[in-house]
Amino acid sequence: MIDFVGAGPGAKDLITVRGMELLKKADLIIYTGSLVNPELLQYASKETEIYDSSEMDLDKIMSLMIEAHREGKNVVRLHTGDPALYGAIGEQIRILEENRIEYGYCPGVSSLFGAASALKKEFTVPGGSQSLIITRMEGRTEVPDSERIRSLASHHSSMAVFLSARMIRELSDELMAGGYGADSPAAIVYKATWEDERVIYTTVKELPEAAEKNGISKTAIIFTGDFLSDGAFTENVRSKLYAPAGGERMKALAPSK
Ligand code: SAH
Repeated sequence: MIDFVGAGPGAKDLITVRGMELLKKADLIIYTGSLVNPELLQYASKETEIYDSSEMDLDKIMSLMIEAHREGKNVVRLHTGDPALYGAIGEQIRILEENRIEYGYCPGVSSLFGAASALKKEFTVPGGSQSLIITRMEGRTEVPDSERIRSLASHHSSMAVFLSARMIRELSDELMAGGYGADSPAAIVYKATWEDERVIYTTVKELPEAAEKNGISKTAIIFTGDFLSDGAFTENVRSKLYAPAGGERMKALAPSK
């Protein structure tokens, strides 16, 4: 069996129980060495063959996986966070399907949520933004014109920008071009849930200086949005979910007689 497994954001105990069990049973693990915490490999047995995919091309990765599978081995393809976000698993899945090979897919805790825990914040704020935009600056991978940062920024929702720490100056300019004021709150979360995790609060304009001063050029998510400002919306507006007046939701939760 071949399983794609989300490794979680970093901390060894933030993989799912299912993911951990798959690692324990694996005969072959191919992990994304640039981002997966190697401590996770401690769940594997001593006999498990382990490869770092950052030193391999797609053909090599796929032939290793398929060969092991045909030998009846348990294969785990370990991706950072949750594989569904910028995991490039689509191309791997396509090749397995072309070869009529069945596979499993075990979700993980995305670094997006690892970062929320580092920030100790909720992305969706009662009375404020009810949407989170997850995006990136264009790099080697193209971004459609309709999804340029400046047009997404015009929504003023909560925003999480992946894979863009190296382009942080352009990102800051794009956010301002999209209507964010220079003083709008921004944050950089570096290596969320790792031991050397860092959270830097700054403003949209000061993002590049903040990154430079802290020596951050990778493994970071850059956040903007009013959810970052302390208590801005939460002081007077409480979520209706726990409102005392007993809406539909409260009734639904009431014990039945
Ligand atoms: N599938 C992964 C994302 C892979 S893309 C997930 O769900 O988290 C790689 C990008 O993810 C990095 O450039 C960075 O933007 C972000 N990233 C991954 N791990 C991170 C972490 N622990 N802290 C902050 N950002 C992280």
